[in-house]
Parts: sequence; C-alpha cells; structure tokens
Amino acid sequence: MKQNNNYDIVVVGAGHAGIEAAVSAHRLGAKTLIVTFSKNDLGEMSCNPAIGGLGKGHLVREIDALGGLMGEAADEAGIQFRVLNKSRGAAVQGPRAQIDRNLYKKAIKRRVYEEGIHIIEDEVIDIKLDTKTSASTPKVSGVTLSMHGGIRCGSLIITTGTFLAGRIYCGGEAWEAGRFGSQPSSELPKFFKQNNFLIRRLKTGTPPRLFAESVEFKKCKIQYGDSPAEPFSFLNTKIETDQVECFITHTNQQTHQIIKENIRLSPMYNGTIKTKGPRYCPSIEDKVMKFAQREAHQIFLEPETKQFATIYPNGVSTSLPRAVQEKFLQSITGLENVKISKYGYAIEYESIDGSEIKKSYETKKIGGLFLAGQINGTTGYEEAAGQGILAGINAVRILSGDENGFVLSRAEAYLGVLTDDIVAGGFVEPYRMFTSRAEYRIQLRADNADERLTDISIEIGLCQKKRANKWFAKKKKLLEVTQTLHKIKATPQRINEHGLKINMDGKRRSAFDALGYKDSSWDKISKIWPELAEIDLDKILKKQIFINAFYSKYIKRQNREIEAINEDKKLKLKADIDYDEIQGISNEAKENLKAYQPTSIAEASRLPGMTPAATAILLQHLKKTG
Ligand code: FAD
Repeated sequence: MKQNNNYDIVVVGAGHAGIEAAVSAHRLGAKTLIVTFSKNDLGEMSCNPAIGGLGKGHLVREIDALGGLMGEAADEAGIQFRVLNKSRGAAVQGPRAQIDRNLYKKAIKRRVYEEGIHIIEDEVIDIKLDTKTSASTPKVSGVTLSMHGGIRCGSLIITTGTFLAGRIYCGGEAWEAGRFGSQPSSELPKFFKQNNFLIRRLKTGTPPRLFAESVEFKKCKIQYGDSPAEPFSFLNTKIETDQVECFITHTNQQTHQIIKENIRLSPMYNGTIKTKGPRYCPSIEDKVMKFAQREAHQIFLEPETKQFATIYPNGVSTSLPRAVQEKFLQSITGLENVKISKYGYAIEYESIDGSEIKKSYETKKIGGLFLAGQINGTTGYEEAAGQGILAGINAVRILSGDENGFVLSRAEAYLGVLTDDIVAGGFVEPYRMFTSRAEYRIQLRADNADERLTDISIEIGLCQKKRANKWFAKKKKLLEVTQTLHKIKATPQRINEHGLKINMDGKRRSAFDALGYKDSSWDKISKIWPELAEIDLDKILKKQIFINAFYSKYIKRQNREIEAINEDKKLKLKADIDYDEIQGISNEAKENLKAYQPTSIAEASRLPGMTPAATAILLQHLKKTG
C-alpha cells in the first residue's frame, strides 16, 4: 500500500470498536496507529461484564467469522456461558457469557500487542483536512494530538464511545467525563460542529457495583451456566476457564417505595437530563415509574471476576443519589447489608447521526473520515466491535482505491442489518441489536455465522491461516455430508415406519428433507438409512447440518414474504393514520411513526423501532382498514 503519510490509518479510541478497526486494518496491511486516552482502555467494559445475548450473540459470532478478536477473547475470559432462548428455535437463540473483566482486558491487550500495532496515549483535539483535493468533499489529512502534535494519515477512524462532551450524573452531582474515572473528549466535538454534522445528545446509565463479601448469596436463587459451555469462537471447541455461578434476587414493594419517594432526586426525573436512554435497558427509576403495576423486578447478581470480589447487579441501573442507592439496595433480599464499591450513574454524550455516514462507515461530508461504535448512536460492546471491524476493512479498501468498499447486506449478516439501520439515521435513543430487527433471521443464525462469512473473510484477505484451514476442513465435510443426505432417498412408508410423520403421497424424500422434519434426529434418520451411522461427524457439525435441514423449508417461505413486503413498500401513506390503534407494534415504533409522519411504507420501515415484523403489521392494518 502506498504510504504517503506517517500512517495509513489512525484509529481514535481503544474501545471495542477501536481495537477491531485497528486489528483488521493492520492485518490487511495498513500501517496503523491507535490513539487513546489510556492504554488501559483496551478491552475495558464500561458497563456490564457480559458479552453476547439475543442478537448480540449473533454479532459476536459474525465478528469472529470475519476474523475479529471479540469471540476469542470472550472465550478466554468467560466465566459463565449460557445460550439464551434455548426453548425457542435456533434462529433466535443467543449465545451469552458472563465475563471476568480483568481476564478480558488481558486477552484483548495481549492480542493487540502481539499484532505490533502502534499505540499512543494522548487526546485527539482536532482533525486536519485537505481542502485542495479535486474531489467534491474535503479529505482527511491528519489529526492534532494534545501533547504529540500533528500526525498525518490517509484515513481516520473515530471510535470515541461515550466520551464526546460526556457528562456524568449521580443524584445532584454532575461532572464532565468520558465514563467513570476517564476524562471527556471536549475539543473534538468542536470539529463536528464546525463541519455541520448532525449531532445528537444521548444518555446511558450503569448500576452500582457491590462488594461480594457483603452479599448474602444463600438467600438468592442460583443461576447455573450451560454445561458444557458453548464457545463463541469458531476456533475453540471448549472453554478452559473455570466457571462460576450467578444469582438472582428481586426488588420488592419497599424498594419501589424508596425509589418513588426519592424520584425527584434522580436527574432523569427532575429535568436535569433531557435526553433519552436505551429503551431496552431501562434504569430502575424508569422500571418503577413506568411499570407501576409490577410488584417486583428481577436482578441478576453477576460476578465481575472469577475471584468474586465485586458484583454487577444487572437490572438496577440508576442515577439516584448515593445515599438513596444504598437505601433501596438494602431493602432487597440478600443485599440487606450490602456495601457499594462504585455508585451507579448516568452519562450524557454526543453522537453523530447515522445519516452522516455511508454504508462503508465513511462520512459523506469528509473523505477518509470513518465513524464506528457508540459515536454512531448505538449502545453495546458487540454493536461497537461489529462496526469497528467493518470500518477497519473499509478504511483500507477505500485507501486502496475501492470506491464502494465492503458492505454486507441485510440478507447476509446481522452486521448488514446493523449498518443499514445506522445509516438510515434518526436514533434519538441508543440503538441495540435484537433478532427482531433482522427480516432474514431464519438464515442469519448464530450457529451458521462461519458458513455465511468465513469465505467472505478469506476473499477480502482478513482471514488468518489457522481459521481458513479449519474452515476448509469443516466446509469439505459439510458439503460432502449434505450432498449425501440430498442423494439418498426413501419412500414415505419407510420414513413413517421409523416414527417420522409425513404425507403418504408416494413421493420419495431425501435424508436431508427427513432430517428437517419436526421431531427428527440423526438417530432416527440413521435407522431409515443405516449407512448414515457410519459417517464420521463431530457433534457441532451434526447439529449445524440438522439445523440447516430444519430451516431450509422455512427460508424459501421467508424470502417469498420479504419479496411481497418489498413490493408493498411502494405504497403511499395517508396523513390521518391513527398509529395508536395498531396492535402488536412497539411503543418506540408508534412514537416515531407519529413524530415523523412517513409518506410511504418504505419510509415508515426505515424509522427507528420499525422492525420487519412491525412493517408487516402496519401493512396488514392498512389493508384491513382500507
Ligand atoms: P468505548 O468503549 O467507550 O471506547 C472509547 C475510546 O475512545 C476509549 O479508548 C477512549 O480513551 C477513546 N477516546 C475518546 N475520545 C478520545 C480522544 N479525543 N482522543 C483519544 N482517545 C479518545 N452497553 C450495553 O450494551 N449495555 C449497557 O447497559 C451499557 N451501559 C453503559 C453505561 C455506561 C455508563 C457506559 C459508559 C457505557 C454503557 N454501555 C452499555 C455502552 C458500552 O460501554 C459501549 O457501547 C461500548 O463500550 C462502546 O464501544 P466504543 O468502542 O464505541 O467506545
């Protein structure tokens, strides 16, 4: 690659987006520099020590399949693994792990240091532009650092998380910060203002942390992890780290009473904070005030490290004053004598509206300037890491003259859904991933991320040898066995004899079809076709082929439905639609429909909160009401 600057690529930030961006750019051959306030930010989890979950677990598997670090590091640092939604279909199950936050940092730091990427601890205070280019937009030429001065670069990736003009609130206290214990980025926001970027102020919050020795776990319900634990990374077959138990307790009427009595002391309820927080991760103040009928709310007591020194009480994010935090916590079973190691708080920060970036994550206004992570209005480590890896790949490709960059579609990956949703813009509250956001979710499963994306990673040159070799071996087997299953056939009668209910229409079915029937299994089809018992297949591959077979018939139906909806998207909307009377779509979607008054179904479908399912419901409603 041509090195016309000191660095090909500078990444501002060493959070989840920054490290994936830097590592992917570096592995693609770019001379890369990370600038961060502190090297200690590498792998730092600002909030809950957990990775994955519904939709988010899919993202981790996809980041891993592309060659990112998150899955491997989570496997190394995970202390309790659970697949969420196990009682439902594989498409909506989400792998999740409780993480030892110190081990995670170590795992990430080691990997980044091993890459040999340059890191400077400093503050980026300005972005330098080359306005004399022949292009229609100015182009990035470098950055100015507070202590180290100017650095030149070909492309710049900004991943500043919650740091831009960050301000923390805890009861009546408020101070400028990027997160607890970190300085804010106060200079850089000026660049975005001067260049007329659409800026939004968002909010998020975190619960207090508790000293484990002050918690009476025996009064709480134990929550066990899965055994055996299922790793995130394709490279791992098992988890080596010691596993721990988590615990569950609940708020009660007394807790709610304390919160109600003190609600005016919460900056969110006394007008100090006017911005919106993540709807799907509400504070305990919001839960008590908005769901007043609920008698209790569940709290997961999650260890922050395997040494069990401090506990993250998942479910009680708050910005109430310190004394009130103590009081309401001590009203909860198991926490009667609890001691707080760090108080909960809320943080307001600036993000840039997604409409300012292209699908490559490059800004529309400035060539070579990329934005990734929480700065784009999302929340979550996984969402940030996913954008990071895509921005890193694109920064290199665009430097090498590929105008269009690397873009995954909604049908290929949750990463495609994430990108598509971000660039539509309009997030007035932090965006997080859910399986409901993906219309192609039957084919975008966590179990087949390797099948969907490893070849793509190989093609773009990001995949490392070890992964590629393992994938080639698996792919060969996967294809061979799937072909065999398609080839061998039996009559309905024979299939029926072995307990699989099937239409007795005389049509011969393949073993692949039979494996996909309800209540089918490898054992059952091996009785119909005894030669299958000879096939040497590991458990993971067996499961993957089984799930592929099960979903194959639904994928066709899903794609037909999506095509029909896409046709209907051309339909125009009248101004007098009463969105409140539509049953089955979320309040977030209704609020946005009312606020934006879209003029077509296509426009409505792009609004925040309008999942594909919500668009289908809106269409049905309009057809019903003429
Ligand atoms: P970060 O991880 O925040 O990293 C930002 C990086 O940028 C840091 O390295 C910082 O040093 C660097 N930086 C910033 N400005 C500059 C500058 N000018 N110069 C040099 N370096 C700079 N996520 C959830 O999923 N659920 C939650 O409940 C949740 N709650 C949260 C609560 C709080 C209080 C906070 C702070 C975050 C919370 N998050 C939550 C969000 C989660 O932490 C972020 O989504 C994720 O860390 C974002 O990753 P990122 O890489 O974009 O930025």
